Amino acid sequence: MRESCYCGRVGEVEDREPVWRDCRTEALRCPRCGHLDPLPYLDADARRGVFEESERRSLERLAEGARAGRGGDRAAW
Ligand SMILES: [Zn+2]
Repeated sequence: MRESCYCGRVGEVEDREPVWRDCRTEALRCPRCGHLDPLPYLDADARRGVFEESERRSLERLAEGARAGRGGDRAAW
């Protein structure tokens, strides 16, 4: 699902940062301008699906960053 933000960023909704709004509502934050999108146009199930995909991608990015940063020379336990 592709979408553009107020700031002009265009990309997949799932590539935004997943955040909890009020600790109970899923929202996605634009990595460029910080705009929080509570996905009001989606029903609860669809929103959860998009949010979970976004969480998955965000964890993947973290894992990739950690690998790149350490150069793979970490000792194996
Ligand atoms: Zn934006």
